[in-house]
Amino acid sequence: MVKAVVGANWGDEGKGKITDMLAENADIVVRFQGGANAGHTIKNSYGKFALHTLPSGVFYDHTTSVIGNGVALNVPKFFEEVNSITSKGVPMPKIMISDRAQVVMPYHILFDEYEEERLKGAAFGSTKSGIAPFYSDKFAKIGFQVNELFEEESILRDKIKRVIVQKNVLLEHLYHKPTLKEDEIYDTLMEYKKMVEPYVGDVSAFLCNALKEGKTVLLEGQLGTLKDTDHGIYPMVTSSNTIAAYGAVGAGVPPYEIKQIVTVVKAYSSSVGGGDFVSEIHGAEADELRNRGGDGGEYGATTGRPRRVGWFDCVASKYGCRLQGTTDVAFTVLDVLGYLDEIPVCVGYEIDGEVTTDFPVTRRLAAAKPVWKKLPGWKSDIRGIKKYEELPENCRKYIEFVEEQIGYPITMISNGPAREDIIYRESPLKK
Ligand code: GDP
Repeated sequence: MVKAVVGANWGDEGKGKITDMLAENADIVVRFQGGANAGHTIKNSYGKFALHTLPSGVFYDHTTSVIGNGVALNVPKFFEEVNSITSKGVPMPKIMISDRAQVVMPYHILFDEYEEERLKGAAFGSTKSGIAPFYSDKFAKIGFQVNELFEEESILRDKIKRVIVQKNVLLEHLYHKPTLKEDEIYDTLMEYKKMVEPYVGDVSAFLCNALKEGKTVLLEGQLGTLKDTDHGIYPMVTSSNTIAAYGAVGAGVPPYEIKQIVTVVKAYSSSVGGGDFVSEIHGAEADELRNRGGDGGEYGATTGRPRRVGWFDCVASKYGCRLQGTTDVAFTVLDVLGYLDEIPVCVGYEIDGEVTTDFPVTRRLAAAKPVWKKLPGWKSDIRGIKKYEELPENCRKYIEFVEEQIGYPITMISNGPAREDIIYRESPLKK
C-alpha cells in the first residue's frame, strides 16, 4: 500500500514529524519532489534534526530511504546530511537514489542568486538553492539525470558543451558574471558520480516489486498545496508540484496505488517567502505566536528566516485539502494555541464586497480580506494528553469547527513535536 504525507498550506505544517511517526509501520519512505530548499524538523530519541533531502523515515533501521526521480538532488548536500545524522549516532540508513533523478548543478545555485540580485525588490524570496533554475533546465531538457553520470566521456562532454553555450550567453550578457567551463562541469559530474554510485537504482521497479510483496510505501511531500506550481499562489510558488498526485510521477508508482493521503494541516498559519497571505497577522500579536510556534519558534529550518504567521485559514486549508485528495487530516501544533483567551479563525474571504469560501486565483487573492470568527481558547497545556475525550472542551470545539469548515476528517491531532505526541480520533466525516 502507498500512503502519502503532504501539506495543505504553505509548508512547515509538521510533515516531518508525521512522516517520522508513520514510518514506524512503513518499509520504504520516498521523497518525490523538491530539493534542499525547505526543511523538516524532527525530534526523536536521537535528538533534534533538520532534514532537507533525506526522507523523514531515515531514523528507523527497518526502512529504506528513497530519492525519487522528481527530486532536485543536490549531491554534496545530500551526503552532508547523511553524515550529519550518522555522526549523531543514527545508524547508516539504507538509501536508494533514482537513476532518473536529476542533479542540482552548482550553476543552478549561482543562477538563483544572480536572478534574485537582478530582481532586487521584486525578487521571489528564493532560498537560493537553485530550485527554479534546476526545474527550468529539467523541463527544457538540458538537465543531467543521475544515469547520465555513467555515460561515456565523449557523449557527456558533448552535452556539457551544448548546455553551457546557452548558460554562458546569460552569464556574460545578462548577469555580467564569470562563464562556465566544460572541464569544471565534467569534473563536478564525475565527483557526483563517485558519491552516488553505491546507491543508484531503478526506483520505480523497486517500488512496484515492493508493492507486489505487500510492503508499505510512504511518499513524503515537501512544502504544501499553496506552494504547488500549478495549484498554488503562482508565481510565489515552488518549482515542483507539491500535491500527492505528483507522488505517482515523482516516485514512479501507479496513481491507483495511493490509498491513503494524510494531509498535514497546522492549527494556525505560517509561510515563508513572498505572496499574499490573507490571514497574516503583524506586530506584537504575530511576534508572540511566532516565538511560541512550532518547537522553539517559527523560524525556517533551512534559512533561519522568521516565518510570517497568521491565524488558521479555513478557506486556504479547505482548498489545500481538496487538491491533495485528502483521506485523513493530521492537525498539528495545536498545543501552541493554549495561551490564547480567544482564537481568531479566518472563515471566509471578502473580495470586492462579496464573501467567498472558495480559494481564488492569485490575481483575486490580493484583494481578499479575512472574515474572522473568534472561538474561545482553552487556556491550558494539552501536551501529554493521549485521548481525544481528555482534551479540554474548547479545544475539541476548535478541532470540530475546523473540521466542519474544511470538510475533511481530522483523524490525528498532534499535540507536541515528539513521535508519541499524537491523538487518534474517530471522525464523523471518515467513510
Ligand atoms: P515540515 O516541513 O512540514 O516538516 O514542518 P517543519 O519541520 O518546518 O515545522 C514544523 C515544526 O513544528 C518543527 O519544529 C516540529 O518539530 C514542530 N512540530 C511538529 N508537530 C508539532 C506539534 O504538534 N506541536 C509542536 N509544538 N510542534 C510541532
